[in-house]
Amino acid sequence: MKILVFDIGGTEIKYALCDGNFTLTEKKSVPTNAHEGGKRIVERVVEIAKTFDGIDRIGISTAGQVDSEKGMIVYATDSIPGYTGTQIKSIVEAETGIPCAVENDVNSAALGEAYFGAAKGEKNFICLTYGTGIGGAIFLDGKLFKGCGCSAGEFGHFVTHAGGKPCTCGGSGCYEAYASSSALVRAVTEKTGRSLNGREIFAEFDNPEIRSVIDGWIDEIVVGLKGLVYIFNPSLIVAGGGIMNEKYITDEVNKRLQTQLMQSFRCVRVEKALMGNDANLLGAAYIASNI
Ligand SMILES: [Zn+2]
Repeated sequence: MKILVFDIGGTEIKYALCDGNFTLTEKKSVPTNAHEGGKRIVERVVEIAKTFDGIDRIGISTAGQVDSEKGMIVYATDSIPGYTGTQIKSIVEAETGIPCAVENDVNSAALGEAYFGAAKGEKNFICLTYGTGIGGAIFLDGKLFKGCGCSAGEFGHFVTHAGGKPCTCGGSGCYEAYASSSALVRAVTEKTGRSLNGREIFAEFDNPEIRSVIDGWIDEIVVGLKGLVYIFNPSLIVAGGGIMNEKYITDEVNKRLQTQLMQSFRCVRVEKALMGNDANLLGAAYIASNI
């Protein structure tokens, strides 16, 4: 089977070919030009698809909340104007004649990790991606849990500090305002007056001032994960996002969780995501292969 897979993000549309063994080849990307709107993005996907021959399926991972049954965008923020309501699946199928599957990007990444990466063989796990915000996905009894509005797993807006810092969602005290990689960057600036990115922060790991901010931030990660462990009782938490390449973070999170959780919940372990950017493409390929 030859599957053409896309990952539509705010800045880039990545795409690749995927064979029946789920090997990705011919990986490429084009700018999303999100300001041109959702309709234009789908047109570009169709244009790219038409440059390939012999495609059996199209799999699409995309930003926004996705109704994967209908293959449409239920809701997307204004970062891609007019994307909400876009019927991606029916447009792509009508234009190309190729069966198409669509899924949200974090859910696609969770599927990629579930079948090919850190969560291979796991039936109950949750995925969190730590970046500008915190994205999440829930995998229960061997399948994705989507919720009534296809939006379950929005862990970034799980309140960990009642009445706390303002959040981009309009609420306050949300997990991502404290535990995202952006929150770490802000906390370092507040403490030191210096503007450092994630990599620069960890390059100064031995600086006691920086180290104390990192340790406080890891406590914030743990606070949220503790709540999620008590809700889902997962065997595994997959932590994604570039910052998770710092082994100290997952080591410390595991150590602190093990000492803070009630005994019967300590079967959980935290591992970094293994598939990186390929997770979304492979997850999209997996759902497309099952149409
Ligand atoms: Zn929020």
